[in-house]
Amino acid sequence: MFGTRFVQSRWEQNPKMEVAGESSNAAPPSETVVEEQSPGQNLAAMLESNIAIDRNDPVQMRILADYGAVFVTAAVPPPTAVFSGEDQVRLWQSSVDIARESIGGFSIELQAPAMTALLSARAEARAARLDITPRGGDAARRGYDDTVRLWTSRVDPALDHWVTRKRLSSDERARLRGLTPREQIPEVLELEKRGIYFSTGFDKSILYSVAAPGTSQHLSMLAIDVAQFENAEVRRILSRHGWYQTVVSDLPHFTYLGIAEEKLPALGLKKVTSGGRVFWIPDPAQL
Ligand SMILES: [Zn+2]
Repeated sequence: MFGTRFVQSRWEQNPKMEVAGESSNAAPPSETVVEEQSPGQNLAAMLESNIAIDRNDPVQMRILADYGAVFVTAAVPPPTAVFSGEDQVRLWQSSVDIARESIGGFSIELQAPAMTALLSARAEARAARLDITPRGGDAARRGYDDTVRLWTSRVDPALDHWVTRKRLSSDERARLRGLTPREQIPEVLELEKRGIYFSTGFDKSILYSVAAPGTSQHLSMLAIDVAQFENAEVRRILSRHGWYQTVVSDLPHFTYLGIAEEKLPALGLKKVTSGGRVFWIPDPAQL
């Protein structure tokens, strides 16, 4: 089923004409039906021209490698790899078109084209006796402070864990706790290089389960955590409407790209299949 969606050119706020799909000559279900007026920009070119990136900063490059797929979106990409704080997030969020909907009992907000595509996907799912709903009230738009809270919920217990295991001194723990979340990012990633991991199970990088403060795709209002993420048909429907998995191992998390799947490689994304799931992640050669 073809959807109708708004297309927003990057760096502009005025939605352009709608693109109506043609449904008379129905495509096989396996084909993607996402259509866009302005295809996303190649990742490398995008990062080169429009985004404030310091390529000498290993933290920013790591963030891009993990979350950078969002920059090719046909909606409005974030202006930076790492938002500096609540003020920058608020200012930027207020500059883009936002849509609010109540879905499955939760009120969520997304960029307008992302919401349009989500509602189309949901309609298709419901027609197939499935559903697509948010995992909770914070499943879509988040603020900077939300990302700090999630970050701290991982960092704090991990610091205690590694002090107990005598891999960190209590002085070092106190010093790390005294840093701002932004200052903690490089320190945590540096410790993880030595096997001192900050994920919930202390066995992998913290970035597998939470975004570093200021880096979440939820800040860009282009991500949603979906309750039915285990359902392969739901995932297929979402991808047909431009919603892809772009963060490996964050399984409920979907990103709005708004671009047909076959166009993604030319934009600098690489397909990775893991556990029966398809992820579209930045091709390292493009970063
Ligand atoms: Zn998420």
